[in-house]
Amino acid sequence: MANNTKRTHRDTRLVHSGSHPERHDGAVNTPVYRVSTVVSSDVEEMRRRAKHPPETLAYGRAGTPTHWGLQEAIADLEGYKHCLALPSGLSGVMISLLGLCQSGDHVLVADNVYGPIRLVCCDRLNGWGLDAELFDASTGADVEELIRPNTKMIIVESPGSLTFDMTDIPAVSNVAHAHGVLVLADNTWATPLLIDAPALGIDISIHSGTKYIGGHSDVAVGTLCVDDDDIHHKLKWAALLFGYGLSPDDAYLALRGLRTLGVRLQRHEDNARVVATWLQDRPEVERVMYPPLASDPGHEIWKRDFSGANGLFGVMFKSGISEAACDRFINTLSIFLRGFSWGGYESLVMSTSGDSIKRPASGWTPSGPSMRLHVGLEDPSDLIADLEHGFAAMAEAIAAE
Ligand SMILES: *Cc1c(COP(=O)(O)O)cnc(C)c1O
Repeated sequence: MANNTKRTHRDTRLVHSGSHPERHDGAVNTPVYRVSTVVSSDVEEMRRRAKHPPETLAYGRAGTPTHWGLQEAIADLEGYKHCLALPSGLSGVMISLLGLCQSGDHVLVADNVYGPIRLVCCDRLNGWGLDAELFDASTGADVEELIRPNTKMIIVESPGSLTFDMTDIPAVSNVAHAHGVLVLADNTWATPLLIDAPALGIDISIHSGTKYIGGHSDVAVGTLCVDDDDIHHKLKWAALLFGYGLSPDDAYLALRGLRTLGVRLQRHEDNARVVATWLQDRPEVERVMYPPLASDPGHEIWKRDFSGANGLFGVMFKSGISEAACDRFINTLSIFLRGFSWGGYESLVMSTSGDSIKRPASGWTPSGPSMRLHVGLEDPSDLIADLEHGFAAMAEAIAAE
């Protein structure tokens, strides 16, 4: 079945890719293979397994049919030859750095990527000899001026975490490839459905499957896709040797979530557009940071590179509004739950006021306090009523200041 899915439409592939009922006694979902030990009939078979040929059980940490189902589905949806299932989104970056870089290598990191990725590259791995440098995420082809003979990789995320500003990834990829530099993109916002990552020139596409792929706020999982056989080999062995094994139960949950990603994402986008448009007209709001809005500075790049949107965006309040009044707004909400992460069925809110939203290379800082909203699958009119309560509490807080 899976072999025939390449020619079908995206929604059909979403349902059938990586699914092999014929290998599992007809079970429509690939079962959870809870395995550490794998036994062989003779020593020759043991030696064959120890070389880790594709889709051969050797040892639990090296992957099971549950993992292969997830990997096959994601690779097919994203349009890459290979996928690795990993225990978190963050481990996709770690494995890429550990598997492909050495002490003395230079890595360029856009200054709007997920904070912990910046911290790993520029703080922790600097101590191991990696020369990581932040660059202004709005730089397109001009990133060429920063490429050195020892530059190995450029890391981008578009739209960026917290600021939701767009990077011109094809422009970055063009100059990177001209210098033999790899482009790694954190495509978590896009999911495997909203961009054509290989066509944008992305060599390594990673996802935090913890977000929309899992979709139910109950699993941590990551995926990493590549086309190149040699790079895949290096990354597969890095994951194996550094001990980055995904639990088969979590691989199962990710695959189960993936099957409904298309319909969930459409509803998240529909709801988010209603809420974002309403927020944009509020007098307290300076700007809604959501590239699907025509007023967003990244809208043209988004329209060119993306086929849809999701429920995650930022809100910047007017500069006269205090952080305390913004906190009061957030504390008053009762349907939007105060929580980190996003991509589950529920609406979430998080304060982004302070240093974490600043763009260190470009020097950009927000003019007022800010927050991030994840718009879930609730009725958008209830979400707007919840936000109205927040604004009423904010007005009280401002009046009392
Ligand atoms: C959450 C997130 C990550 C990290 O994902 P984990 O699965 O928690 O490791 C990486 N990048 C982006 C953009 C994220 O939102």
